[in-house]
Amino acid sequence: MRHDRSSALFAEAQRFIPGGVNSPARAFGAVGREPVFIIRGHGCRLWDVDGNEYIDFVGSWGPLLLGHCHPAVISALRDVLDGGTSFGAPTEAEVEMAQLISDLMPSIEMVRLVNSGTEATMSALRVARGYTGRDLVVKFVGNYHGHVDSLLVRAGSGLATLGISDSAGVPEGFASTTLPAPYNDLRSLEQLFGQHGERIAAVILEPVVGNMGCVPPRPGFLQRLRELCTGHGAVLIFDEVMTGFRVALGGAQELYGVTPDMTTLGKVIGGGLPIGAFGGRREIMESVAPLGAVYQAGTLSGNPLAVAGGLAMLRFLRDNPESYERIESSSARLQAGVMAAAEAAGVTLTSNRVGSMLTFFFTKQQVWDWDGASTCDTDAFGRYFRAMLTQGIYLPCSQYEAAFVASCHGDAEIDRAIECAGRAFRKAV
Ligand SMILES: *Cc1c(COP(=O)(O)O)cnc(C)c1O
Repeated sequence: MRHDRSSALFAEAQRFIPGGVNSPARAFGAVGREPVFIIRGHGCRLWDVDGNEYIDFVGSWGPLLLGHCHPAVISALRDVLDGGTSFGAPTEAEVEMAQLISDLMPSIEMVRLVNSGTEATMSALRVARGYTGRDLVVKFVGNYHGHVDSLLVRAGSGLATLGISDSAGVPEGFASTTLPAPYNDLRSLEQLFGQHGERIAAVILEPVVGNMGCVPPRPGFLQRLRELCTGHGAVLIFDEVMTGFRVALGGAQELYGVTPDMTTLGKVIGGGLPIGAFGGRREIMESVAPLGAVYQAGTLSGNPLAVAGGLAMLRFLRDNPESYERIESSSARLQAGVMAAAEAAGVTLTSNRVGSMLTFFFTKQQVWDWDGASTCDTDAFGRYFRAMLTQGIYLPCSQYEAAFVASCHGDAEIDRAIECAGRAFRKAV
């Protein structure tokens, strides 16, 4: 497999774009090579600028639950495109989108659309602080909530990949309003609430973590967290930017039966276009301007293209709930197949999966938190990644990211991925 054109573009990109990429998560540094430049996607397949074809298990890092160019999404975009790209004025589709989100996630009584997951979490924190009149926020080590200043403390995703525990450029005053806690550890959470309970505005978390690799909540963790927040008057924020409409139609809150006060959304709700949303209990959301005193705004918020793409995506998922069963069974097949291939090759591997979110960890121990995830042999992961890429399997370029299965991955693609994994384990790992 040749990558001459990608290499040439990457050399040029590095002259004008920091690191040659517009988001660090897509640089391939941690897996010891250069990124490939993509020219086209269709269904679960990707093509790079050198004409190589891949089966895609990244799906743009989460949005593409239905794969690339899903006809429902593309035709909805075509329908609105000729009517203009932005008005800065309310549109009917935004009302339909808000209603649909609220129908599918009943904890969201009111919702506001923004342009990214980062904006959603940043705004949700401001609302929680404004509503409670408190400053402190609890976040979990290895969880990632976008590049919000006060949330770049012990964060997952690209920071975990690059080994940066706290970003430069975040004033100490911001970072000190964040209380980091180990994920899935109720004892330290109870301690934090015991010490700072009446000063904690919010707890924000990924109810299923995707950003230190896939890590599910331990049984009872979310339930007890709910009780602690209620008991101390703190706002419980589920960051469902990744899990929303992915792990179940109603998100992780439906899957685990735990109701947050606020939810942040992104990724799937835009069908691949830039969008985000935050919402929750009416009483809390009424503190947002122009109703309330918490200011939040956006020139392109509710953008007609992003809303059309997202509405088409959400309606398709609502009307085709069997999509989730299909995705669940192909994801389970992939997990079982790759684990069996590793065992056959004598490679040490554990795995976590919740629905279509899946990570194979190159470690002996089951992973429940960042301490566990950080025991992984990232060099072995890099060899595995490179051996998969050259066989045409496109995986997340970090041990600390979840892979995603889409509705368009059929048995043939799953079997091919398992076969390639077997070869990678035998020859490269
Ligand atoms: C991707 C992600 C974000 C950030 O969303 P962006 O659109 O990249 O700003 C926030 N939270 C979680 C859980 C995510 O996975």
